[in-house]
Amino acid sequence: MRFDIATLFPDMCEAVLGESIIGRARKAGLIELYCHQIRDYTLDKHNRVDDSPYGGGKGMVMQAEPIYRCWQAVCEGLDEKPYVIYMSPKGSVFTQKKAAELSKMKNIFVICGHYEGVDQRVIDKIVDEEISIGDYVLTGGELPAMVICDAAARMVPGVLAAEECFTEESHFAGLLEYPHYTRPEVWEGMEVPPVLLTGHHKNIAAWRHEQAVKITAERRPDMLSEKER
Ligand code: SAM
Repeated sequence: MRFDIATLFPDMCEAVLGESIIGRARKAGLIELYCHQIRDYTLDKHNRVDDSPYGGGKGMVMQAEPIYRCWQAVCEGLDEKPYVIYMSPKGSVFTQKKAAELSKMKNIFVICGHYEGVDQRVIDKIVDEEISIGDYVLTGGELPAMVICDAAARMVPGVLAAEECFTEESHFAGLLEYPHYTRPEVWEGMEVPPVLLTGHHKNIAAWRHEQAVKITAERRPDMLSEKER
């Protein structure tokens, strides 16, 4: 799987996506991820990538051409067109289901907006989907891009130690996850639930499921069916 991120701040994305599990997955060749400086694709002699909005108003708008040329350059190096995502607070809200869907794709091209956003015409021309990471507005699309790349990349086979690492987690199967405990057995007078010390896998699984349903009912009843609530 390959991600190409078009951004005005490639170092920002590299700093985060070059570390930890995703950084190791890149080094191991399990995923490819490239950050492209949009400014490198401007035809403007001062490297400008934005201009004032037609119709007036505060703020600047990112121009279509540098983003389009960046996408063209990336497409030239690929054998099939990438799925193009524009990070936008106007997009559909990102979920674990969407992350799983993206993790099965071959090439994804992500556009990070800034200022007031990007010229609508480049969205109309090349974007397949607009994705939001929540109902709030950030200064730029880099954090949202990193969020979707991380969530999708960790579901690529081999990135985590085993598939259960994500199939048993919150949101994958419609529940929040059960609580975790590790050594010592007693900490600050608080004991680990006894069932977890028994080694009885069936009972442990039943307890974990019960806990997951309880936590989901308490915190996110909207995730449960009428019957489960
Ligand atoms: N004027 C835009 C609006 O009202 O919808 C907001 C622009 S925002 C300040 C600048 C850029 O940050 C956007 O183009 C987008 O790429 C990114 N962005 C901000 N909030 C986001 C969110 N919740 N999800 C995804 N991207 C976001």
